[in-house]
Amino acid sequence: MYNAKIYTVDSAFSIAEALAVKNGKIQALGTSKDITKNYFARQKINAQGKSIYPGFIDAHAHFYSYGLSLQRVDLTGTTGWEDILNRLQTFAKTNTDGWLTGRGWDQNDWPVKEFPSKEKLDELFPDRPLLLTRIDGHAAIANQKAMDMGGIVPGQKLTGGTVEVKNGKLTGILIDNAIDLVSAKIPEPSLQQIKAALNEAQKACFAVGLTTVDDCGLNAKEVMIIDSLQSKGELKMRIYAMLSDAQANYDFLFNKGKIKTDYLNVRSFKVYADGALGSRGACLLMPYADKQGLYGFLLSPQQHFDSVANIISSKGFQMCTHAIGDSGNRTVLNIYAKYLKGKNDLRWRIEHAQVVNEKDFSLFGQYNIIPSVQPTHATSDMYWAGDRLGKEREKGAYAFKKLLQQNGWIPLGTDFPVEDISPFKTFYAAVFRQDAKDFPNKGYQMDNALTREETIRGMTIWAAKSNFEEKEKGSLEKGKFADFIILDNDLMIAEKKEILKTNVIATFINGEKVFEKK
Ligand SMILES: [Zn+2]
Repeated sequence: MYNAKIYTVDSAFSIAEALAVKNGKIQALGTSKDITKNYFARQKINAQGKSIYPGFIDAHAHFYSYGLSLQRVDLTGTTGWEDILNRLQTFAKTNTDGWLTGRGWDQNDWPVKEFPSKEKLDELFPDRPLLLTRIDGHAAIANQKAMDMGGIVPGQKLTGGTVEVKNGKLTGILIDNAIDLVSAKIPEPSLQQIKAALNEAQKACFAVGLTTVDDCGLNAKEVMIIDSLQSKGELKMRIYAMLSDAQANYDFLFNKGKIKTDYLNVRSFKVYADGALGSRGACLLMPYADKQGLYGFLLSPQQHFDSVANIISSKGFQMCTHAIGDSGNRTVLNIYAKYLKGKNDLRWRIEHAQVVNEKDFSLFGQYNIIPSVQPTHATSDMYWAGDRLGKEREKGAYAFKKLLQQNGWIPLGTDFPVEDISPFKTFYAAVFRQDAKDFPNKGYQMDNALTREETIRGMTIWAAKSNFEEKEKGSLEKGKFADFIILDNDLMIAEKKEILKTNVIATFINGEKVFEKK
């Protein structure tokens, strides 16, 4: 590869013109003249002056469930309840049996910003179970058939979840743990369906320049399937897999030990502290500004997080906990602090670290706790985050710069399929703090914007570091995997209006082209 502008993302953020690849690894970097003179290559690529970056790493995604979601009714961007009903009917015509499942609705995008209720669903689909999950996965609507299968009755109480009732009747709305009562009844996908899901997800990721993804919450069985597909060469995506907080997963990994191949790294557990801000499930220190007396809640008793941290710490694994509300974050920070004790290199992560109390930011630095954040969450939530939190508290939300300053580095991700998979949207949201509609015109809470260089690092080397993989990927340096992308735009200097139009021309893993733009 020569005649390129290669952003190596090494510690000096230096730029090279050419690189040589041998056996899937980077052999040398330098000027076009030196590299073409000193290294013989079977295949030479003239990059024609285009910019090259290390393959992007999404530090927080749901790769497998994204693949599955591509096989369900897509409800993202729906304009209202009618729109949802139309999409369901269209989908049901060609998918005639079994469960109807969909994901991606968001009532905040609708003219009537209230949760829908299920009457129409029962009318249209009296005999076919149906479950439609909200964009954030923390709320869903089910029809009566599905609720019957889940054994849900009005007035039912459960921990960490709510079954909504109006005038003594079920509305179909389920919050957090209540969703599991229904989703547990959905039959497991077949091996064929699992393979198809992983392959479709991989295809979409390569097309946007992702060469590694963190899958935040898999089960042992899924990890075994991924490992076997990767070892047969049927799946080329590199995956950092966090196992879900379940006894079977702890037994599996503690027994087997950390798993590390060139394609798979399993050494961490994903735990959920609280829910999401949109559905008011995030656990706050003070009540929601738009719902009197409501604080949100923790998804498990504090004792659970403590005992999990204790065992993960004693076994030397990584803990990654989802925390959105300031109380959720404080709870996790304090429990982490108890086991991390002080400065350390265990890289325990807080996923999202979305609303942090002013007094708690310094705990990230003091205990080297890694905030793993998603810039597009800021630009999606900014329309209503202030309503939920009030102006004062909102200042400590989506505070990426302030979080970056705690450890001097921060991994970035998207949380896809909650957000779009595009790394360019992440870049745009982090640097300009605007959405694709360029709202708000001066940017949202700009004191927390990241620079272009910080953002690129967050999407490459810092993401690799949060996965203990900074020695093998995340930058283009001698001896590292030859995972890189050619872009038709140079993100470091492109005009703002060009950024979201950026295309990936080609994606390489181990020096092998796995995607080429047609
Ligand atoms: Zn997530």
